[in-house]
Amino acid sequence: MAENLIEVSNLSFKFGKHEVLQNISFTVQKGDYIGVVGPNGSGKSTLVKIILGLYPVAAGRVFFNNKEVARPNFIGYLPQKTITNDKIFPATVGEIVAMGLLVSKKEPRLFNSWDQQIIDRILQKLKIFDLKEKRIGNLSGGQQQRVLLARAMVNNPQVLVLDEPTSALDPQIREDFYNLLKELNEKERVTILLVSHDIGSVGKYANKLLYLDRELAFYGTFEEFCNSRKMTEYFGHISQHQFCWRHVNGKCNHDH
Ligand code: ADP
Ligand code: MG
Repeated sequence: MAENLIEVSNLSFKFGKHEVLQNISFTVQKGDYIGVVGPNGSGKSTLVKIILGLYPVAAGRVFFNNKEVARPNFIGYLPQKTITNDKIFPATVGEIVAMGLLVSKKEPRLFNSWDQQIIDRILQKLKIFDLKEKRIGNLSGGQQQRVLLARAMVNNPQVLVLDEPTSALDPQIREDFYNLLKELNEKERVTILLVSHDIGSVGKYANKLLYLDRELAFYGTFEEFCNSRKMTEYFGHISQHQFCWRHVNGKCNHDH
């Protein structure tokens, strides 16, 4: 049976009088890879910050494993706009990943040799162990994103939330990063919420699509998206089937 890892129920959110999210409801199941897509300003970052407990749940409810928790500690987060061009920022890769481990520690917050092993293991898994002693500011954008992914993964989270992680990356590096996420999702069953404004590239990797436009315009599989009349009205025939690219070439149930 599918496990409901996260359930968002009738969630609304305002900045002052400005309503950003309107009555959002959906359920995330273990092993899902969800592409959270929508135009600029449609509330994507706000939605994931509420799920992470960084903004309060003002109206509606959010459940984790059927319980309400203020700050879920089993979600790793890679925030929007984190790449640094600061060449003299002094922290090394190893130290940055260690900071991810620190948040889950109780006082006194000290590292032991077991922690070093955990750090080394995640660096190896993400194929950046050779960068451990390097300063973050000296790395390429793609390498930096892997380091931040390692920091988000070091506590072995059940869920990873990534907010536009590839927007500053070159196409080839972006592809590598997406493939790495896919591997984590498939091999380790890490549940993924990937925020992006690029519906086309999300369609290649995610198994579900959440289309946000302040309200929840669509939530479901790409096959459902492909067959949704509402989405035909929303995007028009051509764009709808460009987005659900898996179903092009005759596999789609209705005419193009
Ligand atoms: P997205 O991530 O989809 O681009 P956001 O969730 O960042 O959208 O923003 C949704 C809306 O909320 C936008 O209109 C934005 O201007 C507004 N907004 C975002 N953050 C704040 C804030 N801290 N204070 C006031 N308004 C905000
Ligand atoms: Mg955003």
